[in-house]
Amino acid sequence: MACALRGHDLGARVVILEKSPVYGGATAMSGGVVWVPDNPQMKERGVPDSPEDSLEYLRGITEGRVEDERLVAYVDNAKRVLAYFEGHSHVRLDSLDQYTDYYPERPGGKPGGRSMEPLPFDASCLGEQFERLRSPHPQSQVLGRFGISAREAHTYLVNDLRSKLLLFWRLVQYGLRCPKRRGFSRDTRLFAGNALIGRLRRSLMDRDVPIWLEVGAEELVVEDGRVTGVLTDDGRRIRAERGVLLGAGGFEKNAQMRGQHQPRILSTEWTASSPFSMGKGIQLGRAAGGVVDFMDDAWWTPTTLIPKGREAWVLVVEKNLPGGIFVDGEGKRFTNEAAPYLDVVKGMLANGAVPVCWMVFDAEFRRLYPVGPVAPGYAQPDSRLSRRLLEGFLTRAPSLPELAEKLELPADTFQATIERFNAMASRGVDEDFGRGGSLADRYYGDPRVQPNPCLRPLTEAPFYAIPVYPGDLGTKGGLVTDPAARVLNAEGSPIPGLYAAGNTSSAVMGPSYPGAGGTIGPALTFGFIAAETACPK
Ligand SMILES: Cc1cc2nc3c(=O)[nH]c(=O)nc-3n(C[C@H](O)[C@H](O)[C@H](O)COP(=O)(O)OP(=O)(O)OC[C@H]3O[C@@H](n4cnc5c(N)ncnc54)[C@H](O)[C@@H]3O)c2cc1C
Repeated sequence: MACALRGHDLGARVVILEKSPVYGGATAMSGGVVWVPDNPQMKERGVPDSPEDSLEYLRGITEGRVEDERLVAYVDNAKRVLAYFEGHSHVRLDSLDQYTDYYPERPGGKPGGRSMEPLPFDASCLGEQFERLRSPHPQSQVLGRFGISAREAHTYLVNDLRSKLLLFWRLVQYGLRCPKRRGFSRDTRLFAGNALIGRLRRSLMDRDVPIWLEVGAEELVVEDGRVTGVLTDDGRRIRAERGVLLGAGGFEKNAQMRGQHQPRILSTEWTASSPFSMGKGIQLGRAAGGVVDFMDDAWWTPTTLIPKGREAWVLVVEKNLPGGIFVDGEGKRFTNEAAPYLDVVKGMLANGAVPVCWMVFDAEFRRLYPVGPVAPGYAQPDSRLSRRLLEGFLTRAPSLPELAEKLELPADTFQATIERFNAMASRGVDEDFGRGGSLADRYYGDPRVQPNPCLRPLTEAPFYAIPVYPGDLGTKGGLVTDPAARVLNAEGSPIPGLYAAGNTSSAVMGPSYPGAGGTIGPALTFGFIAAETACPK
């Protein structure tokens, strides 16, 4: 959509092909956060940045595995794309000054500001196109009905009077939107990824740029080594004078491709991404001579499966909160649970804690915090949980040995793990894995718990557990591109007329994840750049 918008403005006639009956892909389901280094709002918010700091950070975390020119292109262009959107479209982003980079202590890292979220959007101006927008992920919806911003969600972690009043006010506002909602099947006030896609869609509607739904790209037309068009799965042949951008997402839902490129143990059930991420864009690019990189990698995150529909639920908040730990099948901790989600799954894979490990927590944790789809106990006590949640999701036991028995863990090892963890948590220092040591760990900690907002002993019965899987937000391996978003062949030369962005392309972030928005930021930026390469002024 970013490519289409810029391409249109540069004089091209553009069409977006969308295989699914709804547009927006994984982006619409996402938090919609966009990582924009050195964005102008940072200075105003008291976290100034510079191109030098941004590059130093990216060079460090990508470990020399990404060409420097691509990193430079990202740092130079992400803020330029933002400025263009603000001047020429409905896209508006808000810098989250407290949402820290994932490695803020690394050289060039920042304690906040680079992650930006879309401002809420009134979807009623999309008209019937609103019904064609992919729904948000269920975990971003309060009571399954309305969304909230990332900034606001963070304040709900501390369940004080202010956050209760705010939530009450949001409920009232939802009620007041009833007349507007009546014409549509869901709430019209969009947040997160839905707001980003809604804003892009409205901007494209203003330009009469069409999205053809349920029309998949099936084959590329290549003439004399140049990509000149697309054959669609409904038999159409589309001529592309200036070029084709492949932006069909990753291959996280394609079991065959996962089996070929990634550890075989990974199930396509564990990804929280869109069902249409079947890797078709990567296949098309390869057939045209494109090469791939980082195919064994992903935007890893621990997930759990909720009983209803066995949907994957992303565990990015729960894992940091005090009073819970992850244990493997041996009943042992194996990583810093509060580390960036990418690293937690790397820890799971390295330890062999697959296919399943457990998040174990005590009654106080259950009372205070949400766990997957289960609201905190003060709002939704066990007595008000459905049988499906109690029997198919939460495991509960009156004592640690009984919990170990239910989870089939070696009871002695499990007991020793809890005792050691509790002793360290009482002192506020995780000597084994350094949990809570980084500012990033503490972003989703509980600031009321001191000295370490990520550590509290597990002491209060009953004890609980949920299964945790090595899931992801999408795959990050794909077609190798240059700084101009052109797909490269085995000789390292651009394939004329062929571009890639998003998870169809090999991640500019390499093996890392700089901060929230580290996947959508590059998708927007390189999509935009592709249009400028294909349509020079
Ligand atoms: C719950 C959740 C939260 C997340 N939060 C964030 C976040 O806040 N910030 C962030 O940076 N990342 C986040 N992510 C990750 C992010 O959503 C993805 O990495 C990103 O959206 C991928 O964008 P994309 O453009 O590559 O693919 P998509 O957004 O999936 O778009 C690809 C589109 O191509 C379509 N398509 C597929 N095949 C074809 C074909 N053959 N022909 C035509 N169309 C086709 C698909 O249907 C889809 O609509 C999150 C992910 C999840 C699941």
